[in-house]
Amino acid sequence: MLQILREVRPSLISWYEREKREMPWRSDPTPYHVYVSEIMLQQTRVDTVRPYYLRFIAELPDIAALASCEESRLLKLWEGLGYYSRVRSMKKAAAKIVEKYGGKIPSSYSELLKLPGIGAYTAGAVSSIAFHEKEAVVDGNVLRVLSRLTGSEDNIDLDSTRENYRKLLKSFLTEDGTDPAVFNQSLMELGALVCVPNAEPRCEVCPLASSCRALRENRTDMLPVRSPKISRKKAEITCFLIFRDSCLLLVKNDRKRLLSGLYALPHYEGRPDPGKTAAFLSSIGIESESMRILPDRKHIFTHIEWQMHGIEILTKSSPPSAGSGYRFFSPEELENEAAVPEAYRKWGLKAH
Ligand code: SF4
Repeated sequence: MLQILREVRPSLISWYEREKREMPWRSDPTPYHVYVSEIMLQQTRVDTVRPYYLRFIAELPDIAALASCEESRLLKLWEGLGYYSRVRSMKKAAAKIVEKYGGKIPSSYSELLKLPGIGAYTAGAVSSIAFHEKEAVVDGNVLRVLSRLTGSEDNIDLDSTRENYRKLLKSFLTEDGTDPAVFNQSLMELGALVCVPNAEPRCEVCPLASSCRALRENRTDMLPVRSPKISRKKAEITCFLIFRDSCLLLVKNDRKRLLSGLYALPHYEGRPDPGKTAAFLSSIGIESESMRILPDRKHIFTHIEWQMHGIEILTKSSPPSAGSGYRFFSPEELENEAAVPEAYRKWGLKAH
């Protein structure tokens, strides 16, 4: 692999300098900017991240601001991005950086790895892109490009393959004079824009085409090798949009559940059932003035798919007792205060 990397380096880098996308974190790659953007970009597309990143950086411009931000506000800033454990870990990491490193993000890969929520990928990205350390960054894009380029049949879903590529890339960066920030981003960008997944690489415009083994051997549709997909579990859930005047009833998820700490629509597991619905509403002290069935919706998480049934209720009942976790929110409070995950926004958060 080292020989191929030496061979493709010049054309890869000149392609990147020509074709790279403008991104707000690229124009000012401070350690904090790189850190925030890389965490946001995990499992999330660049176009989705862009407005979240700008809003986040405007409100929390540095590590100290992140460390002292209330969790409820952080969740609101993250609302809709999903995988909320990412932002909780960021707050813990920021507190540790303030306490142990005087508010400065450490530059070394090994120190970064000691921080909550930072694994090999993020440590490699921050140390190489922000500090120009000779560290590799191995994400799905990089794995796909390298597999096809070298014709490797190693399963890219295995940690051992990822670690093997990381070590090989690191040793290439160590022997080579190339700026690791540029080289790593070039590989990632090529995987995102040209050597794309699902057997549709754009080899006709690829700067690595003349060295690519998969292309030469007509195997681009067979690589990379991956583990068979595990099918997602399915679950049914019945959600209530309960309005008193224009205020919507929400409940704070408890700590141990999926989407904990965020606000959810009141709900029970399973399909709508008149007896279950009556018992549920009575348990939270809600009397229905009118009830309407909403169209079904679907929400897909990484490991589970929700088939969602919706019931809209208008009520004059008082809010359930303080401490129950239930609370009515006005439209303004919904906009500015309550963090409600995408899954519960399927019908919008207003009366139909
Ligand atoms: S030539 Fe095709 S398969 Fe090979 S690296 Fe380029 S885009 Fe990927």
